[in-house]
Amino acid sequence: MLTRSRRRLAYLFTLAMGGILVTFAFVVYYFLVRERLRVFDQGLKEDTQNYVFQFKYPSQNEQYRVESGGMPLESSLTIRNGFEYVCWYDNQKRPLQINDNICPPQYLVKQGFQTILSNSQQLWLRQLTSPFQNGNKKIGYIIVTKSLEPIQEHLGRSRFYLSLGVPITLGIVGVVGWFLGGVAMKPTKRSYEQLQRFTADASHELRAPVAAILSNAQVGLLAPEDNCELPRQRLENVVDISKSMSALIGNLLFLARHEGRLNPKDLQNVEIVGLLNQLVNQYQSIAKEKQLSLIGEFSSQPVTLLVDPDLLQQALKNLLDNACKYTPQGGKVKLKQFIQLRRISIQIIDSGIGIPPEDLPHIFERFYRVDTARTRTSGGFGLGLAIAQQIVQAHGGKITVDSIVGEGTTFQICLPLKKV
Ligand code: ADP
Repeated sequence: MLTRSRRRLAYLFTLAMGGILVTFAFVVYYFLVRERLRVFDQGLKEDTQNYVFQFKYPSQNEQYRVESGGMPLESSLTIRNGFEYVCWYDNQKRPLQINDNICPPQYLVKQGFQTILSNSQQLWLRQLTSPFQNGNKKIGYIIVTKSLEPIQEHLGRSRFYLSLGVPITLGIVGVVGWFLGGVAMKPTKRSYEQLQRFTADASHELRAPVAAILSNAQVGLLAPEDNCELPRQRLENVVDISKSMSALIGNLLFLARHEGRLNPKDLQNVEIVGLLNQLVNQYQSIAKEKQLSLIGEFSSQPVTLLVDPDLLQQALKNLLDNACKYTPQGGKVKLKQFIQLRRISIQIIDSGIGIPPEDLPHIFERFYRVDTARTRTSGGFGLGLAIAQQIVQAHGGKITVDSIVGEGTTFQICLPLKKV
C-alpha cells in the first residue's frame, strides 16, 4: 500500500514537473524563434536598404540601373546569390526585369515581411517587400528574399537538444520524485507501522482477559447446583478482570481521543504549585499504605500556566502511581518543581527498583513493559507512560527519564512558561 502511494507520489511529481518542463521548453523555443527571426529580419531590412541605395534612377532615355558591389547591372535587375534574389518593380508593381520567372507576379507584391515556400527548391524563404523612392516620389517596389536555411539549421539543433534534454530531465525528475516520495512517506510509514503494532498489541491485551472471562464463566456454569461458592468465586474473578479490561479500554480511548491536540475549551490558567500540593496530599494515604515517605518540594512563588488541568493531573498521577508501585517499602518518593530559564520543571523522583538502561529508549512506547512479570502482577498494561508523554507533548512540553537500577528513577516534565 505504501509502495503504491510512493509510486503514485513519484508519478504525480514527474507529471507536474514534466508539464512545467515541457511548457518551459516550448516557451524557450518560441522566444528563440522570435529572436532569430527578428535578427534575420533586421539583416534583410539592411540588405534591402543597401540595394535601394544602389538603384540609380535613369535619366529620360536611360534604362533602370542597379549597381552591385560597384558594378553596374544594366540588363538584369535580378540578383541571385545562392537562394537569395532581389526583384524590382515599377510604381504599378510591374516587374522591371524581363525573362525572369523567379520574381513573384504583380498581384503577389504585398508590402512587409513574408515567409514563403520556394516551389523549385522546397525551401523556406523570407522576403521583404518595400517601396523605394526618389526624393519624395515613390518610384517602385523592391523584393529581397533570403533563404531561412541558417535559422532552420540553428533551430533544428535547438530542437534536437530540447527533445533530448527534456526526456533526460524527466527521467531525473522521476528518480528524484521517487526519492522524495520515500522521504515524504517516512512519517506516514512510521505512523502506519505504529498503528499496526498498536492494533496488534491492543487486540492481544484484550484477548487475554476475554479468554479469562470465558473460562471463569464456563467453570462457574459447570459447578454442581449445590455448590454456590465456586460460581461466586468465578464471578468475582470476572468482575476483577472486567474492571482491568475497562481500565485498558479507557486508556486506549484516551490515547485515541487526545492524539496530539488540546481542546481550547478545556484550557485554564492554573496555579501549578497549588495543583502539585493537592496531588501530594492525595497520594499521602497511598504512600502510607506502602510505607513510603512522600514529600513535595516546590518553588516559593506561585507559577501560573495555561493548561488542561485534568490532563496534566492525569500525567502526573501516572508518574506518581508508577513511583509508588515500583518503590519498595521504606523507600522515598519526591515531587519537585522549579523554574529553569523560561521553563517550569516538575520532577518525580523515587528510590525504587529503577529501569535497566536497555529499556530506557522504549519506556514511552505504547504497551512497553520493562519486565512483563513484574508489571503484570501490578496490573499495568504499559500505557501509563505513553499517556503521560502524549499529554506533556500536547502542552508543548517534554518528558525525560533518568534511572539507575536498584537506586531509583527520576521522570522530568518540562513545560514552556509561555501561554500554550
Ligand atoms: P504500567 O502501567 O505497566 O506501569 P507504564 O507505561 O506506566 O506501564 O510503564 C512502563 C514500564 O516502565 C513498566 O513496565 C515499568 O516496569 C517501568 N516503569 C515505569 N515507571 C517506573 C519507575 N518509577 N520505576 C521503575 N520502573 C518504572
